[in-house]
Amino acid sequence: MATLIDGKAFAATVRNKVGQAVSALKAEHDLLPGLAVVLVGDDPASQVYVRNKGKQTLETGMQSFEHRLADTTTEEELLHLIEQLNHDARVHGILVQLPLPAQIDSHAVINSINPDKDVDGFHLVNVGRLATGAPGLVPCTPLGCMMLLKNQIDDLTGANAVIVGRSNIVGKPMGALLMAQHCTVTTAHSRTRELPSVCREADILVAAVGRAQMISGDWIKPGAVVIDVGINRIEGEGGKTRLVGDVDFASAAEVAGAITPVPGGVGPMTIACLLRNTVQAACAANGIAFSLD
Ligand code: NDP
Repeated sequence: MATLIDGKAFAATVRNKVGQAVSALKAEHDLLPGLAVVLVGDDPASQVYVRNKGKQTLETGMQSFEHRLADTTTEEELLHLIEQLNHDARVHGILVQLPLPAQIDSHAVINSINPDKDVDGFHLVNVGRLATGAPGLVPCTPLGCMMLLKNQIDDLTGANAVIVGRSNIVGKPMGALLMAQHCTVTTAHSRTRELPSVCREADILVAAVGRAQMISGDWIKPGAVVIDVGINRIEGEGGKTRLVGDVDFASAAEVAGAITPVPGGVGPMTIACLLRNTVQAACAANGIAFSLD
């Protein structure tokens, strides 16, 4: 039976370290890191995410700035707000909650954020930094996956890593991070041939597909480390809905060496890494060396 990778507990230790770093920055440098989160519209899931981000930001002792805008907001109005936040010295991190309403071009908005405040790591400059191995801000979900992996495997050198999914938010940056750790990386997607046999080659399998329980135990190499990024809501017993990953946990756990559960795996790491990135950005803006170890 696979070892359970407890992302909830690991995220709590990351948040603790962020809290300690924030206290030290206040005490030693009179610096209070600040995170601005912008929500446009009233998408219920986005509202929950934004509330959680604000709450956890405050819990670490950082400053939280929430900007809630109507779903009729124009692109020009949003760009104007971002320009203000780019110039606000109290704000070290800016996150625009996605998705944005149809009248707003997400790419234009993301690329208007000062790359050094882009704590989501989605700005083209940060994408380029990650692709070329330069220091920068790394997208939170793949960063969280990598922290869980490195906690599980000391040295990833030479491991065969397969990522299922090639999104800009998860799959592609995950590939860059694994390559930087000297893995041999395969990125699979909806056009990949013989996906089960591609997955069976993986010492490290990262699932970021968005299809409930698609990857079953017989796709997994015995002893592999499985990181399940998927969050899918399915109907469970008694008509109640429940969350499942992209991996069929029950069959996969019988074969894998270690596996993240859903919920309680990658999910909690995402906000923890957002807080971590905000401290990193605050340190960089003030010429302070950053480390959470
Ligand atoms: P996207 O929809 O942007 O990307 C999905 C990827 O999966 C695409 O590359 C697509 O291929 C590929 N894909 C779809 N169907 C298949 C298939 N049948 N076989 C092989 N590949 C397939 O999703 P995201 O990357 O944004 O998210 C993936 C999952 O992770 C979702 O469940 C999402 O909810 C979750 N998520 C969780 C987060 C967390 O905090 N834990 C954060 C972000 C996402 P193609 O490119 O060819 O279309």
